[in-house]
Amino acid sequence: MSHAILSPSSSERWLNCPPSARIAEASQDRTSPYAQEGIEAHALGEHKLKKLLGYQTKDPTASLTFYNKEMEDCAEGYANYVMELIGAKTSPLVWIEQRLDLSAFAEGSFGTADCIVIAEDELHVVDYKHGLGILVDSFENPQLKLYGLGALHLFDAIYDVERVVVHIYQPRRENVSVFEISKEALYQWAEEVVIPTSKLAFNGDGSFRAGDWCHFCPIKNKCRERANATLKIAQSEFKQPSLLSDEEIDEALQKLDLIEAWLKDIKAYAYARAMGGQKWTSVKLVEGRSNRKYTNEDAVAEVVQAAGFDPYEKKLKGITAMTKLLGKETFHELLANHIEKPKGKLTLAARSDKRPEVETINMEFKKETKKL
Ligand code: SF4
Repeated sequence: MSHAILSPSSSERWLNCPPSARIAEASQDRTSPYAQEGIEAHALGEHKLKKLLGYQTKDPTASLTFYNKEMEDCAEGYANYVMELIGAKTSPLVWIEQRLDLSAFAEGSFGTADCIVIAEDELHVVDYKHGLGILVDSFENPQLKLYGLGALHLFDAIYDVERVVVHIYQPRRENVSVFEISKEALYQWAEEVVIPTSKLAFNGDGSFRAGDWCHFCPIKNKCRERANATLKIAQSEFKQPSLLSDEEIDEALQKLDLIEAWLKDIKAYAYARAMGGQKWTSVKLVEGRSNRKYTNEDAVAEVVQAAGFDPYEKKLKGITAMTKLLGKETFHELLANHIEKPKGKLTLAARSDKRPEVETINMEFKKETKKL
């Protein structure tokens, strides 16, 4: 598969850290199993959507290595989502897997939009995400905005578009995220941010800047800028928590994920190198702890039974296994009254997390005291 140096999917990285584009160029093009699974899920989603729209299409299922029931449900969910979007519009026009030329905004850049819908004065771009690891937000998402720009570039002269609406459909995270931007604001972003920054990136110029976008950078483990930035944060935070002000704690909380991600990446990199023969002075490869296990379960059962004991225990199937056994509908019919969802243990989550904030008794008390 060919990749643009300034691809929309890596745009968050090169827009924030322009020199990363050229440096990353040499390290790309390794298709991971996850990427392959995503490609296959896209192909199935495309087929399902085309089928619902009455287009000619060939079922790719037989050729999919990662096909399973979950992929089937996800692809169906995606196709239904687009159909619902189309159904709510007057005279919609639909393009599936539309290649978009973005070279007017970033040299050599192109991408493929999963689905584009033009209806009334809106242009919709729907992007299917099969990944589980990172919850993708559509708000000001540069990849989706670039797709929007590419679609505008293609259709603006023909159709009367005023607004661009981008949708992320990420079924395995139960995430549907929608963001709307006016045509003017999108073109302004292109002029003020994309065009000048892409020039820097294409030429390998600009300044390195570390942040969340490092996560998908091929050189993240060895990048000096990322190491320096993370260590700088860590240095300022290496004080006793009780000696920090609430503001300092708040600031540290925003950065902890960056430090954690960097530490994890460094450990994973060191491990991979050690497996390849590298000897580190500070750490070494050792065998992890392991538990005893039977060498042959049937033989064990036989021996225990012969001695007059029952070697088996009977256990109720868990909810997932029971749903598999009964099917979703029967499970609900028979067991709905026997299922409860206990409250989860309270945990700290980012402000952007979709779950509602929980008020503790102390918070309520503080509010009441303020009122008095
Ligand atoms: S790891 Fe981060 S700072 Fe380093 S080049 Fe990649 S994106 Fe830039």
